[in-house]
Amino acid sequence: MNTKENKPPKPPILVSSTSTPKIPQTTDGFKIPAAPASRPLQANNQVASSSNGEPASDVQKDNNKLWAISDFDLGRPLGKGKFGSVYLAREKKSHYVVALKVLFKSQILSSDIEHQVRREVEIQCRLRHPNILRMYGYFHDERRIYLILEYAKHGALYRLLKARGRFDERTAAIYVRDLTKALMYCHQMKVIHRDLKPENLLIGHNWELKIADFGWSVHSPSSRRMTICGTLDYLSPEMLDSKPHNYAVDLWSLGVLCYELLVGLPPFEAKDQHVTYKKIRHVIIKYPDYVSDLARDLIGKLLVIRPEERLPLAKVLKHPWIMQNAPDGTKPPIFDAEQK
Ligand code: AMP
Repeated sequence: MNTKENKPPKPPILVSSTSTPKIPQTTDGFKIPAAPASRPLQANNQVASSSNGEPASDVQKDNNKLWAISDFDLGRPLGKGKFGSVYLAREKKSHYVVALKVLFKSQILSSDIEHQVRREVEIQCRLRHPNILRMYGYFHDERRIYLILEYAKHGALYRLLKARGRFDERTAAIYVRDLTKALMYCHQMKVIHRDLKPENLLIGHNWELKIADFGWSVHSPSSRRMTICGTLDYLSPEMLDSKPHNYAVDLWSLGVLCYELLVGLPPFEAKDQHVTYKKIRHVIIKYPDYVSDLARDLIGKLLVIRPEERLPLAKVLKHPWIMQNAPDGTKPPIFDAEQK
């Protein structure tokens, strides 16, 4: 991550933030996670890390000052979510470019998602993988919570997918391979994502896929889907039925995602949610002619009703569709930024 060509470029600074408040000493009743909030960025414009990817302990020790908004110059908005906005930002001392996600405490409390935000921070701060969006830390002021995130230069995968319609098999296989590796890491770290979908995947500086949004990784996504998103498309049958579930829910979502990358739409999509429900329960999938037999084979081995019969992640990496289309070392294609 720390090579010269991987470094995000420095953006033009549009807005200065010197008048924004310093973080208060009290937490005004709003619980903030116990995850590290110490300064993770170095003056040489690199993320402070040791060779194994862990934060360098001396940097942690020397830099236990908390972040505040006055440490950043704010740039353009990168996007808007339901609970706040994301801005390009540059840390003033190091000039390190990040994405700042700004959440309003009032909205978080009124929507009763304090728990999810806390989990998102706790989980994402400790994950270190090239295909998982880094969260460097967080801070807060009276009204807002700020999440300091890795900047994903090429934005959300769903935008790229919508713009291109669908991906060719090689591109889809590279994304699925990299996602599989990231999920293997998550599962080793005892984290189930539970909400994989193109909206939660970002594209980094070198067009690599990054899993973002861990806010629902320990919360019931089924209630979220129905109350907030209104879509069941990525839900596994066991979650639809509110049955106990385990890591295999991410295998199901990987199968759904693989189909959507190749076709442009998720396999169980329907206008009526009852139809989607039925299609999921009975695994009714139609493939357009252009989807290869090998891709169908992999998707079919992931979209299996019984969780324990789904193809394990290690075997996904060895599947012939992946081996042929995304052999080790192949990188995601570079798309014309204008055509995004
Ligand atoms: P969210 O609130 O996380 O749903 O983010 C809303 C939008 O902001 C996303 O769809 C992206 O387009 C953009 N965005 C969020 N996080 C980042 C990031 N780390 N880097 C670049 N763009 C981002």
